[in-house]
Amino acid sequence: MDPRQKTETTVQGISASNGIAYGEIFLYLQTDLEVPIYQVDASKRIEEIARFDQGLVTTRQQITKIKNEVEQNLGPDEARIFDAHLMVLEDQALIGETIREFEATGVNIETCFNNVSQRYVKAFDEINDEYLRERAGDIRDVAQRVLRNLLGQAAHHLGELAEKRVVVANDITPSDAAGINRSAALAIVTDVGSKTSHAVIVARSLKIPAVVGVRDLTTRVSSGDRVLVDGYEGVVIVNPTEQTLFRYGRIQTEKKTFESRLQAASRLPSETLDGVHVVLLANLEKVEENSSGRDSQAEGVGLFRTEYLYLNSSRLPGEDEQFASYRAVVAAFAPNPVVIRTLDLGGDKPLEGVPGLTHHETNPFLGFRAIRLCLEHPELFKEQLRAILRASAFGRVRMMYPMISGVDELARANAILEEAKEELRKRKVEFDEKMEVGSMIEIPSAAATVDLLARHCQFFSIGTNDLIQYLLAIDRGNDRIAHLYEPTHPAVLRTIKSVVDDAHRRHLPVAVCGEMAGDPIFAPLLLGLGIDELSMAPPSLPAVKYLIRAMKMSDAKKLAADALTMSDPKEIYAMAEAFYATRVKVD
Ligand code: PEP
Ligand code: MG
Repeated sequence: MDPRQKTETTVQGISASNGIAYGEIFLYLQTDLEVPIYQVDASKRIEEIARFDQGLVTTRQQITKIKNEVEQNLGPDEARIFDAHLMVLEDQALIGETIREFEATGVNIETCFNNVSQRYVKAFDEINDEYLRERAGDIRDVAQRVLRNLLGQAAHHLGELAEKRVVVANDITPSDAAGINRSAALAIVTDVGSKTSHAVIVARSLKIPAVVGVRDLTTRVSSGDRVLVDGYEGVVIVNPTEQTLFRYGRIQTEKKTFESRLQAASRLPSETLDGVHVVLLANLEKVEENSSGRDSQAEGVGLFRTEYLYLNSSRLPGEDEQFASYRAVVAAFAPNPVVIRTLDLGGDKPLEGVPGLTHHETNPFLGFRAIRLCLEHPELFKEQLRAILRASAFGRVRMMYPMISGVDELARANAILEEAKEELRKRKVEFDEKMEVGSMIEIPSAAATVDLLARHCQFFSIGTNDLIQYLLAIDRGNDRIAHLYEPTHPAVLRTIKSVVDDAHRRHLPVAVCGEMAGDPIFAPLLLGLGIDELSMAPPSLPAVKYLIRAMKMSDAKKLAADALTMSDPKEIYAMAEAFYATRVKVD
């Protein structure tokens, strides 16, 4: 081997934005600012606070400018990220604490602001919640900007990238990502990050391939090294050989052709080769995702996770605010149905900003979550129920409760719903008197009592994400045991089968709205088990529809029947994978 030849190294990360790219690395390392510490003379303290105010104003102007640019270039959804940044600048706790620290110590304002913002970042970072960790990123990003302005230092940004490069960074902030020169950034690779971080959302909307979570890659490469980024598989290959490049060149061509086939098929009917229509629905978290839901050709919304309305805000949204959001989604999809799920706060989605509602718990997934919280706060719950009912006058709303564990909870939730209806009748506000009510099946005790629950609702939706974690006792967010989280475990398949049979015996439909529904390897198993509807993230829809159009329902039924006789989850997975591979050829 030629000793000058650098060796090829493959690093596995998390796939964050699809696509394949190859090029030279631009190592983007942001160094933390050096903040000088000095004492401010007592006579200059008012001026020092005025300087702080001016720093905040300048930062606000800069962020507003970026926001407007992003809005023009990318659209309003992406620009909304910067609203979170503008909110940091208005955070009275952060600003007030900085001023109090300054008044108490007399140390220069940048040092006080740096101390306070770092405390906030640390507190958010330590909370085991992806959303709040992203808020930490927002504060860090804005704080750096404020400090630069106070210190009179110009920022480096990725907009300065002139030649085509693969950006490799420890992390990139949403302003970094939005400032990227899209014709120059071939791909983005970051040491940290998750699929849902704001920067990744921007990369996806720019259609720049991205891989995150490659740990310490920035310490092992240099600017100028060549790298191949496979955003589909989350793989980064440093110094790839000619052979690897050749192989990826072929893969890239195949993927592009395949993706255009998927897109072309997504406008065609969702029908199997033996003529069975399969209803495919969209999962939405935010009102703004409306358009991607409709573009995906979903026949409605199978899960609208309303807790994001609460998590995105530092206060509880009132009835009118919620109503406006629900109505926007319902009207956008009318006459197709929209399943609005009532609050699923708690667990991995604690509400930190509102004291007294969620608490620190040792086992949050087994704790004060979702319907349990709502039943203990009937006024809060009723506010949401009234908002959902009001939206039902503008399209077809179906409402469902999360985390139902048995008949008592379902009956109590329905009793509160009746009170909410009565209040609206008194107010002479219109709503759909026949609005259907459903129960999620995501707790084993609910799965075992579907026949009893069926007397109190009109439909079921299986939340496989939670159902699997509770059936197999595997924390769905824990990397350490992620390999044990097996959707093809016989316990999972048998439970789904029994839910479907019990529900169908009582003539109630069953959907799946967990991640299993959007995976073309699992979808035929679910359909074969008798699931009536599949609800998934809009980007998953084309691939699932493509498979449905390439398979027979009779074969899916045989696949599920065979799977039910088997004991090894890996063998069942392999069989489902082969089912997919024999029907869908990527090349
Ligand atoms: C589920 O548990 O499968 C589900 C759809 O709900 P969430 O992922 O919001 O808990
Ligand atoms: Mg769930």
